[in-house]
Amino acid sequence: MTSTRVTSDKASPPAALPSRIDPALLERLAGLVTLAPGEHDALEVRIPFTQGLLGRIPHGTPADVDEAVRRAREAQRPWARTKLSERARIFVRYHDLLLERREQVLDLIQLEAGKARRHALEEVLDTAMVARYYAHHAERHLRPRRRRGALPGVTRAWEFRQPVGVIGYMVPWNYPFNLPITDAIPALMAGNTAVLKPDHQTSFTALWGVELLYEAGLPRETLQVVTGIGPELGSTLIGGVDFVMFTGSTRTGKVIARQAGERLIGASLELGGKNPLLVLEDADLDAAVDGALRGCFVGAGQVCVSIERIYVHESLYPRFLERFAEGTRRLRIGPALDYSVEMGSLTSRRQMDTVAEHVEDARAKGATVVAGGRPRPELGPFFYEPTVLTGVTPAMKAYADETFGPVVSVYPFCDEREAVERANDTRYGLSASVWSRSTRRAVRVARQIRAGSVNVNEAYAATWASADAPIGGMKESGLSRRHGAEGILKYTESQTVAVQRGLPLAPLPWMPEERYAQTMGGLLKLIRRVPGLR
Ligand code: NAD
Repeated sequence: MTSTRVTSDKASPPAALPSRIDPALLERLAGLVTLAPGEHDALEVRIPFTQGLLGRIPHGTPADVDEAVRRAREAQRPWARTKLSERARIFVRYHDLLLERREQVLDLIQLEAGKARRHALEEVLDTAMVARYYAHHAERHLRPRRRRGALPGVTRAWEFRQPVGVIGYMVPWNYPFNLPITDAIPALMAGNTAVLKPDHQTSFTALWGVELLYEAGLPRETLQVVTGIGPELGSTLIGGVDFVMFTGSTRTGKVIARQAGERLIGASLELGGKNPLLVLEDADLDAAVDGALRGCFVGAGQVCVSIERIYVHESLYPRFLERFAEGTRRLRIGPALDYSVEMGSLTSRRQMDTVAEHVEDARAKGATVVAGGRPRPELGPFFYEPTVLTGVTPAMKAYADETFGPVVSVYPFCDEREAVERANDTRYGLSASVWSRSTRRAVRVARQIRAGSVNVNEAYAATWASADAPIGGMKESGLSRRHGAEGILKYTESQTVAVQRGLPLAPLPWMPEERYAQTMGGLLKLIRRVPGLR
């Protein structure tokens, strides 16, 4: 087995912070956190590449959450009264500012999450696209709609969209910039205010994004940030807000859902996945191999839509496996703060342990490690080689459990039906990918897969970046959607206003009930027969 290529000296762990990230910036960002009066402990944020200290954030308490919710609630009505066009201008400005300032946030994302710069860039580009999308299309989704009234000409009905109120949202560490900002944009555009609880590992990145929103013109009170440990703050946040948006594991998602259920507030849950990629016998092999390499190892596999299972038609299987394994071994991994590497580090000891556990368990139970399969401590404490397994069976953890790391299992299949069945043989339903030269066939297969998004001839990015189309999970991968109409309407409540003119929807004072019943019966039969009135 050839070993994974390591980049040159450039890739050695950053000895000092890059010039774009100075302690004054980190201190300023930490100063944006909402705090209730009183003493606060600090939480250390360590750089995954080295475990060196990046900075300290406030260790938030439930009292801080209460304070943040109070401020957000006070700000909500005035904010909801601002014109949509005024709100939209803020996000257009944000789009431009972000693209100008991206280098600094790319450094920060890398230093907190440990990912390669190219994967950090995907977060930034997607955020700009979502800002542009909702700035230009929110009005279309939110505008009042005329609805058919009960009786034509007599009842006129409109559907209005009201903001829910204060949104509480919690995001994980794996998309530390994109999720804190893109979840806020539709919520704020719809007239809500929000309280963000970022992951404690990646709060500086989230705060950088929030500070830029303030600079773009967002009133400070409309978006509050509390930093700290999720389980210490989650229930207080859910206890105070009107809607909860959570991204994280399915296990935690169920806890959040129960707490939201207790209060009968809405919840949007974006949870785990075990995403399959299918290579049909008429696929472009080289393109499928390239796509699979990107899809499996983006963010070192710590992306909700990254691929952990590959099914290849038996006629292509040997060639696919050889090229894919070779491509995997050739991936450049390392901690460089530039575009020279193709995969970065895992983010934490916990991720490292899960990845090693899944690989060792598979190895011990008879799977073949075709590429990778080792930690790389000489690159940094949480580096693990991109790893390809074959012969993975249901007895192994890597078969059905989400690894959330750079580990993929490859399997052959003999026909399309088997491929679809195996793709669906999971409790998850987040994302999938289908490769075929026939678009019609690929779309037919895609529609049989129980996943919220399916990419054809692309691993994960086509659905993710199509901001006008909803994205989210089926089965245990979640509830509700991001993006498109659903991604903003979920932050609203519909309100129907109906105006009755002339006749009441009841017997006239002089009309016997019997006569009313006959008249209404006749009227309904008439309406049912006239296409324009139905
Ligand atoms: P996790 O559920 O353990 O933690 C996620 C976040 O929730 C963390 O910030 C954590 O501090 C916080 N948290 C944990 N318990 C909490 C509680 N009781 N109340 C409030 N907050 C709590 O998940 P993780 O393993 O750290 O993150 C990775 C998971 O997130 C993976 O399963 C991945 O697939 C999923 N994810 C999903 C999407 C999506 O869009 N579907 C996107 C990114 C990540």
